[in-house]
Amino acid sequence: MANQTGNERLRVKAVYPGSFDPVTKGHLDIIQRAAPTLHKLVVAVADNPSKKQCFSIEERKQFLKTVTEGIPNVEVDSFDTLLVDYVRKKNIRVIIRGLRAVTDFEMEFQMALINKSLLPRAETIFLVTSTEYSFLSSSIIKEVAAYGGDVTQFVHPMVAQGLYNKFGIKR
Ligand code: ADP
Repeated sequence: MANQTGNERLRVKAVYPGSFDPVTKGHLDIIQRAAPTLHKLVVAVADNPSKKQCFSIEERKQFLKTVTEGIPNVEVDSFDTLLVDYVRKKNIRVIIRGLRAVTDFEMEFQMALINKSLLPRAETIFLVTSTEYSFLSSSIIKEVAAYGGDVTQFVHPMVAQGLYNKFGIKR
């Protein structure tokens, strides 16, 4: 996959939307596996004021830019509208989401169906987590970091430092 030429990629622009609060190696795994199959992958941070987030939109975008630095067809953005409105505006065809366990399924299924009803031309494609990241979520990482635990194997060093700073942890 790493040696794929531009011609072997789907001529598709896709979005990988999420909270990314903060980005973990589980998210990065999805990005690294999806990007080589696509023309362009926009990783879009959801600016949803009803969800209380630990990091600001700018911080979350900066972390994503750092971890995706070497992947040429990945762009980082944010949106504060309905996902389908963003998808329509950016002329995107495919929504990428990750599935970790059955627990993700019901919510993801509901979201895919509502998005399909609102914008029939957009398709949601699911990538199943790699086994080594199946237990990883931003919330579990925040919990470990808040108690001063070692999160360096689960997130980029810059993200780990950001978490420790946020929680006032000296390590
Ligand atoms: P949201 O609030 O939209 O669920 P998240 O940042 O929690 O945002 O997740 C964004 C997407 O990434 C979701 O589809 C989620 O299932 C997926 N995801 C998160 N962690 C992992 C992981 N470890 N492996 C695979 N997919 C993941």
